[in-house]
Amino acid sequence: MAQFYFKYGSMNSGKTIEILKVAHNYEEQGKNVVIMTSAIDTRAGVGVVASRIGMQREAIAIEDDTDVYALIEKMDPKPYCILIDEAQFLTKKHVYDFARVVDDLDVPVMAFGLKNDFRNELFEGSKYLLLLADKIDEIKTICQFCSKKATMVLRTVDGKPVYEGEQIQIGGNETYIPVCRKHYFRPEI
Ligand SMILES: [Zn+2]
Repeated sequence: MAQFYFKYGSMNSGKTIEILKVAHNYEEQGKNVVIMTSAIDTRAGVGVVASRIGMQREAIAIEDDTDVYALIEKMDPKPYCILIDEAQFLTKKHVYDFARVVDDLDVPVMAFGLKNDFRNELFEGSKYLLLLADKIDEIKTICQFCSKKATMVLRTVDGKPVYEGEQIQIGGNETYIPVCRKHYFRPEI
């Protein structure tokens, strides 16, 4: 039986590298995988999954109004597995539709993304993935300022921490840093 996975991590925890690795492993065995990503994140271009170490490949871009269930149901041959990058940007409907992909189409879905935003609130996609996924895993990375596990994302603009504002801001002069709880509130910058 197919399962619904949510693998979350802070910034720079290697989520995209993990997706590219999983895809590569399946493809080596002749199994076709489908990679999808949010159309909201256009840093590498719409429909591109790119890791910070320079590896990238094309993906199906998910718009807010994309009917992901209909899209996957039509695929021939049926995918062996669906991999989703930037899953925090999914809508509640997308997450429920992916759950139906798992249950009704019997296709495993692995969603990768951030859990919390820089204000330390859950993203919509992450909230419903936490509620609906069969298996939840943390991809660990360490705090930029100490050796503790990074559980939060610190947003800085011009080197200063920012805790308020719109949830989604991509492509400005801000930086997102993986931090532990202590250094989220008291970053050493
Ligand atoms: Zn720390």
